[in-house]
Amino acid sequence: LMDLTKRLLEIQTILKSVAPSDGEGRHRDALQLPSIVVIGSQSSGKSSVLEAIVGQEFLPKGSNMVTRRPIELTLVNTPDAGDGYGEFPQLGLDRIRDFGRIQRTLYDLNMSVPEAECVSDKPIELRIYSPHVPDLRLVDLPGYIQVVNRNQPPVLRQRIRDLCETYLGQPNIILAVCAADVDLANSEALKASRRNDPLGMRTIGVITKVDMAEPAEAAHMLTQNDYPLDLGYIGVVCRPVREKARPGSSREVVLSEAQYFERHPEFQQAHVQVGVGTLRRKLVRVLEGSMRQSLSSLVDAVRAELEETRYQIKVQYNDERVSPESYMAESLDVLKQRFKAFQQQFGKPQLRAEVQRWLESQVMNVCAELYWSDPAVRDLSNHVTRSRAAGLWADIRAGISRGAAAATSVVTELLAPNTAKEQQGPRLGRTADAEGGDSSARNGQPAAAGGASATGEWTESDDARWGHQLDRASALLTKSGVGRWTTQMVVDLLTSSVRAMVDAEPFTHHSEMRTAVLNFSSAILRSKYHSTVDQVENTIKPFKYEVEIEPHEWAKAQRRAAALVDNEIRLCRQALLKVRAAAPRKRLQHAVQFVRSAEKRGVDPVAAQAELARRGAGQPAVPAEAGSAAPEAEPAAQREDEDELGHVQFSPRLLQQAQYTLAIQDRLAVLQLRRKALASGACATQANKHLCPEIFLSVVAEKLAYNAVLFINYELLQDFFFQFPRELDANLYYGKTLQQTRDFASQNPRVSRQLQLVERRQRLELVMARLRDLVQQQQHSTASGPRD
Ligand code: GDP
Repeated sequence: LMDLTKRLLEIQTILKSVAPSDGEGRHRDALQLPSIVVIGSQSSGKSSVLEAIVGQEFLPKGSNMVTRRPIELTLVNTPDAGDGYGEFPQLGLDRIRDFGRIQRTLYDLNMSVPEAECVSDKPIELRIYSPHVPDLRLVDLPGYIQVVNRNQPPVLRQRIRDLCETYLGQPNIILAVCAADVDLANSEALKASRRNDPLGMRTIGVITKVDMAEPAEAAHMLTQNDYPLDLGYIGVVCRPVREKARPGSSREVVLSEAQYFERHPEFQQAHVQVGVGTLRRKLVRVLEGSMRQSLSSLVDAVRAELEETRYQIKVQYNDERVSPESYMAESLDVLKQRFKAFQQQFGKPQLRAEVQRWLESQVMNVCAELYWSDPAVRDLSNHVTRSRAAGLWADIRAGISRGAAAATSVVTELLAPNTAKEQQGPRLGRTADAEGGDSSARNGQPAAAGGASATGEWTESDDARWGHQLDRASALLTKSGVGRWTTQMVVDLLTSSVRAMVDAEPFTHHSEMRTAVLNFSSAILRSKYHSTVDQVENTIKPFKYEVEIEPHEWAKAQRRAAALVDNEIRLCRQALLKVRAAAPRKRLQHAVQFVRSAEKRGVDPVAAQAELARRGAGQPAVPAEAGSAAPEAEPAAQREDEDELGHVQFSPRLLQQAQYTLAIQDRLAVLQLRRKALASGACATQANKHLCPEIFLSVVAEKLAYNAVLFINYELLQDFFFQFPRELDANLYYGKTLQQTRDFASQNPRVSRQLQLVERRQRLELVMARLRDLVQQQQHSTASGPRD
């Protein structure tokens, strides 16, 4: 049974690695095995005794409080360890054969406690493996001090006491070190023992520096009964002793401990225990006895701990199985599934929809820039809408352009009434405009060049002008870098989709993996970007010169264009509502009138306002709505935005809002005209494409989209779908070390906790199995007869 201590010490090593289940560990104390705790005053010879037990010099020396933290020292008898080596498991330092280095490391670890704190309760763990040590577990504590020096705070004495006290409870064995040259009645070590072990059942007294007292006196000290200890006192001498060779001689001899005790018969006569060897054997026996007693309570504690851990795994994780590897694989599966789902719902049709949507917004931009902001577009619109016999008109034009002879009769038949209507047209058109309400005042502004419009006559030069305009618009659309923009749009879309995949659980815990996925995604896309852009540009090149349109394509585009303009109208209305909601209604109305009248006079409204302010009092007031007959004007009453002289004061912000309101109203009026024009018969045929630019551009957009999508799909999308899962495996799955996999899993707090619990259970099960073996052996050996 000699190896009970050794095996329990091994078990304790495993238990040490079992993280406490709840914060500070309820069961920690219960899982503790007995240690030998070494206490004593400073310079009592504590370190010397410990080193004598180990047979090596390894403790830091010095007068400046070199022990500031508990040193938990495990000695492991290891026959094949050569001269022995040490390990600091906390630091991951293995097999240090140089004991000088151990000494320096201990010194550094102690000195890491700042002088102001003096002591720390964080233990230093040290294991020493050697053929010359017994299996023991000792704790070296800071020495008690009597008086504090200048640099030490007065509380230090108490701090050291409190720290030692935490180690002195059951089931630990107290090794109380006292020097022979100090009165035992003053021994701090014995006082501490008294407090914690009043019956002296688990204290061993060690009297050091026996050579410093007269042998008879020392021998008497070792038998003394003032502080009786069940385990007794042992006297030791821990350094060579110089003595006169014989009484009266001047020659000196140097004696070892054994020689010293042999030379002085007083010790043998008194039947006292002396010598480090005796002390060692005693320690081994006492510790083993204590271990044996602790065995059954340890078994109980481990069993309770194991049950608790199993229970937690069950309630918190429903007994789900998990390992770092399985978690890693599952996480990647989640990503792959998300990717697959995206792949299934984002194919060519969705791609086309996206590209088309983008191109259509481009169409709207081009129209806004080249048409809707051009005052002449009113005349264009009116010209188109005026053709009342819409469908026929279109047919006729189409018929003529096709040169169908059969149509001629129809033309002559119908042209007469139609012409009459066209002559009325301009008036009709204007009337229709007046319905535009807000916009009526704006209509008065001078029409742009293209003098024909002013008289309402439509001439060939008008056709030429709008034909030219259409070419410009078409060029703007086709030469605006469609390849780059559409490719970029798809790249952005794919990137943001991948981002969405990794921005959700469980990847929120794994920023490294998240970054890796984003990185290789963009690497794939980058590698394909330029070739895709080039391919798309190549494929749309023909449309830069000519666009062939089938009648059904035109018809579809007509509906699309109408819908697009409807949408623009809706947006304008929303914007209008918004700006109106942001300003007081009456004030905004007045500001609008003010701006309108200023614009009509060709004056910048801001300048007009500034001028008003400059003129100041005494000057004739300028009416706010000069020249306009706004029905809501109340000239009699003073308005809040007028000063006493009737000068209007609008804030710059209000003026801005008014300008903005007018601009939207303008745009709205134009759009409504365009909407009518697009629905008209004239726009039903591509023969009039120059009159219906929205439709024509819509056709072009459709064709560009179709061709762009063909190549983007093939060059970029399909390739991305192919490469992404492969890169995923290559980057994130293969070649991961166990440690990397573990680190990954522990990034997720939930999984990390679960893995900790599982590991804890495994270790406790291992400990339990070993303990069971030990207990069985123990019963076997007691059955086969008592030892010793
Ligand atoms: P600690 O402060 O309690 O660890 O005490 P040390 O082990 O450092 O010893 C304090 C001093 O006492 C040192 O100078 C030691 O050399 C000396 N010392 C230790 N043991 C003995 C001994 O058995 N006999 C004599 N004469 N001196 C000793």
